[in-house]
Amino acid sequence: MFEMESKTYVVKSNREIAEGIVSLKLAPEDGEQIAYTPGQFMLLTLPSETKRAYSIASSPGSEHLEFAIKLVDGEFTSRVPGLKEGDRLIVEGPLGPFIYETCEEYVLIAGGIGITPMISILRDRDGKSECQKAILFYSARRKEGLAFFDELRELDLRNENIRTVFTLSREEPPGWEHETGHLDGEMLKKHLSSPEKKRYFVCGPARMVDAFRKLLLEDLNVPQENCTFEGWNV
Ligand SMILES: Cc1cc2nc3c(=O)[nH]c(=O)nc-3n(C[C@H](O)[C@H](O)[C@H](O)COP(=O)(O)OP(=O)(O)OC[C@H]3O[C@@H](n4cnc5c(N)ncnc54)[C@H](O)[C@@H]3O)c2cc1C
Repeated sequence: MFEMESKTYVVKSNREIAEGIVSLKLAPEDGEQIAYTPGQFMLLTLPSETKRAYSIASSPGSEHLEFAIKLVDGEFTSRVPGLKEGDRLIVEGPLGPFIYETCEEYVLIAGGIGITPMISILRDRDGKSECQKAILFYSARRKEGLAFFDELRELDLRNENIRTVFTLSREEPPGWEHETGHLDGEMLKKHLSSPEKKRYFVCGPARMVDAFRKLLLEDLNVPQENCTFEGWNV
């Protein structure tokens, strides 16, 4: 477990990576990254002093600290598009119990912007040959809303132990070779053998996370200790 730190970071890039979602890449002003574990989050403070929690999308060892932020026109996110290279933010962390263990078969369930801790975990697994297997279920309303779509497909293609299942709830674009419809128990059962025996990480809008809490704990009888849930009001 890493100690919580507070440091000034500088904006390196700020660009839209999916519909209404930007990737913000930051570098520490003093050159020393804050250490973290995939799945954790940081508190970001803007020059206006607005502070919010954001999961880390990058993985340890990457050059920049990356966040993927859904623009909802709130106090923090309305200021994000205006951040330019060289602007300074305060980063505090790492925080959060959303830490994954190694060497087991795990299921990552992401709704919308809930992909951020999952991409950190999968980037960290890329190229590692341990016994660990991961399957990601990732849902969005439309294809344009799937952040990191191409990167996730490539992670799946080049890693025997990583599988991705994408689903769109509001459209089926021409040539779409993945799932459509809501991410639910039926979809889990279609892609998983013995779903009650897996280790689950679920992240996304609070309402979706609550539905999965009921599904996994009550309907599929997954033990509580095999489930980690993180729901955000976005
Ligand atoms: C542990 C943790 C990790 C998180 N990780 C991420 C992440 O990786 N990416 C991410 O995008 N978010 C993440 N969040 C959510 C994030 O912390 C903010 O809550 C979110 O970005 C909204 O902040 P805001 O200041 O813009 O909205 P606020 O001003 O705080 O408003 C709160 C909510 O009100 C609504 N709202 C406010 N203003 C408007 C408006 N004008 N029009 C419509 N709706 C409005 C929005 O739905 C908004 O979510 C995380 C939250 C937690 C607790």
